[in-house]
Amino acid sequence: MKKRLKVLKKILKRFPSIIPVNGKVPIEKNWTKYCTEKRSLNIDVFEKYNAGLPTGPSNRIIVVDVDDRKEMKALKEENGWKMPETFTVNTGGGGRHYYYQYPTDGNEYGNYGYRDKDSGKNVFDIKGIGGMVVAPGSIHPETKETYEIKRDVPIAPAPQWLLKLALKKDSSIKPQMDNMKNDNIISNFLSKLQGVEQTGKNRWKALCPVHDDHEASLSISIGDDGRILIHCFARCSPENILDRVGMSWPDLFPKTIDRAITVIDYVRETKEPNAVYNSIRVFAELTAAQLASVTQDLKEILGDKLNLNDFRKAVNESEGYKTRNENNRPIIQSNNRPLDQM
Ligand SMILES: [Zn+2]
Repeated sequence: MKKRLKVLKKILKRFPSIIPVNGKVPIEKNWTKYCTEKRSLNIDVFEKYNAGLPTGPSNRIIVVDVDDRKEMKALKEENGWKMPETFTVNTGGGGRHYYYQYPTDGNEYGNYGYRDKDSGKNVFDIKGIGGMVVAPGSIHPETKETYEIKRDVPIAPAPQWLLKLALKKDSSIKPQMDNMKNDNIISNFLSKLQGVEQTGKNRWKALCPVHDDHEASLSISIGDDGRILIHCFARCSPENILDRVGMSWPDLFPKTIDRAITVIDYVRETKEPNAVYNSIRVFAELTAAQLASVTQDLKEILGDKLNLNDFRKAVNESEGYKTRNENNRPIIQSNNRPLDQM
């Protein structure tokens, strides 16, 4: 197989949303919807076309596209902007793409362009919702050089300065709702602990329910990204702590899809199929498309260890865990149809 198709195959595995591109221009009119929706394509399409990665929630990336590296260096020094080491691609035209994690904080991050005031030349762009980058393995239309992975390391969290520039709208209603959910989660969790004491804003300590604790070794806090963090100084695992109070680990994450992603990350770390089955109620709340996509992710990580029959059964049986409204009806219907097609 051609080398560029090999690279593209890897990319297709890593990113769930991909589009055909002619040179640098997307072929389809309404391609921007794939910034928020997943879309997979057969590798054959790219015998003929370049591949584009829509930026935004679907691929969970926000990309800094640097055209003028010298000017960018000066800007970074001037403004104190840091660019943590991350997955980086050399464009075929002398530029560089730095991939960062698209945040799951409920805000929307879009595109942003910075031009040099004197020359009017483009220095860098930020690509978020409504944007895309040409993927590694593609060919630059002018230089005929290949887009190549320069640094093949995990995608780092996006630095704050970047997010500030790309923030589309401060969706003040949404985070408020999430905060409310967060408050519920945290007060629910704290109510199950002994010796709770508030030690600061969004910070508490309590007696650890796992080990024989007399000194309030458990610290509970809400991180900057809204996540609830728990830490026992005697090093009891968060899983055990939650288990003791009748909660499961993804309960700490207010949004279903965030929780699913967190479970997947956890499974990736531990390669532990039981983590999937223990956390199954998350998957029961996902929509059909989301469920199909997380199943694919899990299959890739666990391979034969993921028993699809067990998984299907667990999703079906998780009915009782589902969130219910005041009439005791499940708020979200589970739909495991895509599992049967796998
Ligand atoms: Zn402990």
